[in-house]
Amino acid sequence: MTDYTDAFEHLLAQDVFSLNAAKKREALMPVFDALHHHHFQHSDAYRNITSSNTDLMLAKPSDSAGLPYLAVRLFKQFSLSSVPQSEVFRMLQSSGTTSQTPAKVVLDKATSARQSKVLVKIMQSIIGKQRLPMLIIDSPSVLKNKALSARAAGIQGMAFFGRKPVYALNDDMSLNINTLHEFQAEYGEQPVLVFGFTFMVWASFVQALKKNKVTLSLPKGILIHSGGWKKLIDQQVDNATFKAGVKNQCGISRVHNFYGMAEQVGTVFIECEHGHLHAPTLADIIVRSTTDLSVLPQNHTGLIQVLSSIPTSYPGYSLLTEDLGRILGEDDCPCGRKGKYFEVLGRLPKTEVRGCSDTQEGKA
Ligand SMILES: [Zn+2]
Repeated sequence: MTDYTDAFEHLLAQDVFSLNAAKKREALMPVFDALHHHHFQHSDAYRNITSSNTDLMLAKPSDSAGLPYLAVRLFKQFSLSSVPQSEVFRMLQSSGTTSQTPAKVVLDKATSARQSKVLVKIMQSIIGKQRLPMLIIDSPSVLKNKALSARAAGIQGMAFFGRKPVYALNDDMSLNINTLHEFQAEYGEQPVLVFGFTFMVWASFVQALKKNKVTLSLPKGILIHSGGWKKLIDQQVDNATFKAGVKNQCGISRVHNFYGMAEQVGTVFIECEHGHLHAPTLADIIVRSTTDLSVLPQNHTGLIQVLSSIPTSYPGYSLLTEDLGRILGEDDCPCGRKGKYFEVLGRLPKTEVRGCSDTQEGKA
């Protein structure tokens, strides 16, 4: 594990969006290589799945595309662990609202601590180091459940970047208009942080404000949101419509979506000023063909594979998701950030998932 720890600390010390492709590979591959060996040694499932690939055992892959990957849905079916039960610090469950079977992610203290450190680094690059007054687009009851849902974990994770958090919604998910007016009166003229899950921000906040004929003025606000576009695409709301709605109802023009998953908390892919999702130095993204899983070149749509430098307690550092997307470029986004940038284009239709997974259970 010292190999891993040294390589990870070196990577963590870099600016999150400063390394070009060659430098990033140099800093990231030793981390992935160490993670591969760690999980091979400590997770039976990972060893069983990857040991059939003898090429991999013989040669050190020179880039992320040569590393093995697990289907993300394995975490919905099994509790995969690479640590003894006595070291399990907590179990994270993905929310049941978007998936019938929640994923179970085994966390030890070290992995959990790295998740926080990395999230702080990535978010501070957008929000700044100062803790801003925070408006959470959710109801306070979300944190009252005993099992830590991904929704609650997401809010807890983000609450670190704000101070004096205020909840925009009542327990029945209606707008708490008094609270919103108080928040605006106290902080309306200064930078504030607004956080919520994409669909809730749209349906329970932006649309609800409109329906109630309430307009807020938070011109220096920064809205960070995440959680998938599926429900919004169903309602034909794209990113431009979303941003225009936010601007109209509360005057916020700095809006950043991020892409991330409960199986890889910490390494989030955040949207820049040009609407592109960026891979930080601590993570990588690959797009694979839906027919033969080969690596696709830029601008070709396929399945998103995500790689994270963080997890040692469960074998989820390299995961094939069921999301479709395409890489738009590398090292040359007009925002100035280095690394790959991409867009997410929805989920793989259910029938196709069956074709490329031998462990599916009839759910998309
Ligand atoms: Zn950019």
